Amino acid sequence: MAQTTIYDLVRRLGLTPRPGQQEGESGNYKCPLCGGKYKLNVNYEKNTYRCVRCGAAGGMLDLFARIVFGHEYDRNDPDAKDIRDAVFGEDNAQPRQSRPVPPAITPAADDVLNKVYRALLSLPELNLTEAHKKALIARGLTEAQIGCYRSMPVPEAVDIPRIYYDLANDCTKGEGMRGFKCPRIALGLYLTELLKERGITNFQGVPGWFKLEDRWCLYNIDGIMIPTRSLDGNVVSIQVRTDNAKLRYMTLSRKEFPSAVSTGISRAHVTRNTTKAPNECKVLLTEGPLKANVISALIHEPVYVIAIQGVNNTKCLLPLLKELREKGVEVIYNALDMDRITNRNVREGSKAIRRMMANEGFKFPCLVWDRDACANIAKSFKAKLPEGRVNPQEYQDLWTYTTALAAELEEQEISHNTSWPSRSKGLDDWLKTQRSKGR
Ligand SMILES: [Zn+2]
Repeated sequence: MAQTTIYDLVRRLGLTPRPGQQEGESGNYKCPLCGGKYKLNVNYEKNTYRCVRCGAAGGMLDLFARIVFGHEYDRNDPDAKDIRDAVFGEDNAQPRQSRPVPPAITPAADDVLNKVYRALLSLPELNLTEAHKKALIARGLTEAQIGCYRSMPVPEAVDIPRIYYDLANDCTKGEGMRGFKCPRIALGLYLTELLKERGITNFQGVPGWFKLEDRWCLYNIDGIMIPTRSLDGNVVSIQVRTDNAKLRYMTLSRKEFPSAVSTGISRAHVTRNTTKAPNECKVLLTEGPLKANVISALIHEPVYVIAIQGVNNTKCLLPLLKELREKGVEVIYNALDMDRITNRNVREGSKAIRRMMANEGFKFPCLVWDRDACANIAKSFKAKLPEGRVNPQEYQDLWTYTTALAAELEEQEISHNTSWPSRSKGLDDWLKTQRSKGR
C-alpha cells in the first residue's frame, strides 16, 4: 500500500491552497495555526511544512498534531500513538492519493544558459514597448540605463506564421496546456524557430523551454523581461515583471511541463557599477533584480548589488556567497526593504539570511537610509506599549530598537499595521527621492 504523504494529509485536513498555484515540489496554504494567508509552505518532496509567519515547522505528524491535537508532536507524549495511527493507520478509510514524482531535470551549465538567453533577448520581436519603457523610467532609470530590458509581447502583436497556430492547435486539440493558451504556444514555437535560424538548436536544460510533442517551445508571459546575471556576468535566468497586477514577478519557466527544468531554476542576481573587484568596494544585498539594477545605477559610490528573487527564496544565495568568499569579500550590507523592521514576514526572511551569512562567515550590517522615518515609527510603536516594556539602552542602534518594538507589539498582539513611507521603503526609492531633490 502506498505510504501516506504530506500531499494527502493537507487535502485530508482541508487546508486552503493559494488560488491558481501551480503543482510543483511545494505548495502554499493558508496557515491554520496563525491564519497567515498562504504563509504555510508545504514541501511535497521532503514531506515537511513551514509557516513563514508564525515559524511553525516540522514533519507530517507535527502538522497533524498541531492542527488536530493543538500541540507539537512529541513521540513520548501519551497521545503520540493516536496521532501516528490517525496519520498512517490501517483503519483510516480516507482515500489515498499517490502523487507520481517525476525525475528531476537540472539546468544546463551557465555558459549554455547565457548563449540561449542572450540570443533570445536579441530578437527584435522582443524590443521594449513604449509602456514598458515608461514603467522603467518611472523607477528612476534613464533611457541609457534600460538597454538590457526587453518586452515579451502579446501574441497578437507579432506576425506569427499560420503554421505555428496550426501546430499549437493540433498538439493540444485546440485547448492549450494548463492555462497556457494556443496563441501563446504558437508564439513560443515561433520564437524558438527564430533562434534556430540563428544557430541555437539545443534547449535542453534551459528554464523556460519545454517539449510539445517533439518540438521545443518557449513558455511566455507578457511583461518586462529582466535578465538575472551571475557574478561572471552570464545571463542565467530571466525574471518577468508581468503586466498582471496580481502576479507581478515570475521566473520564466514552467517546471511541470514536459522536459522542462524542474529544479535549481531560481538564481541570485549580481550587478555592479564599477570595474573594481568585489572585495575593493561595498557589496549590498536586496530583493529583486530590477531593484538591484536601480540601486546600482543611482548610488554615488562603487558597489556590487546582489539580489535574491524573494525574501524567502534564499537557497540560491549559497553558491554565490561561496564565490564572494573566495574573492575575499567579508562584509555584505543588508539593503533589503526597510519593512524588514515592521513586516513580520520580511523580518523572518531577513533573519534567515542573517543566519546564513553568519554560517558562511560574513558580517551583515544593516543599511538604514531614512533615519527620520525610522525614528517616527519607533515613537509611534513606543506609544502603543506599556512604559518600560522595551528599553532603548539595551539596543545598539535605532533600527534594532525599532525591530524589537515591532516584535514586542506582535508578542502582545497589539496591531501596528505600519507601512513604511513609499519615499524610502526600498534603497532604490530613497535614491530616486534624493535625486529628484538634486542630491
Ligand atoms: Zn502560521
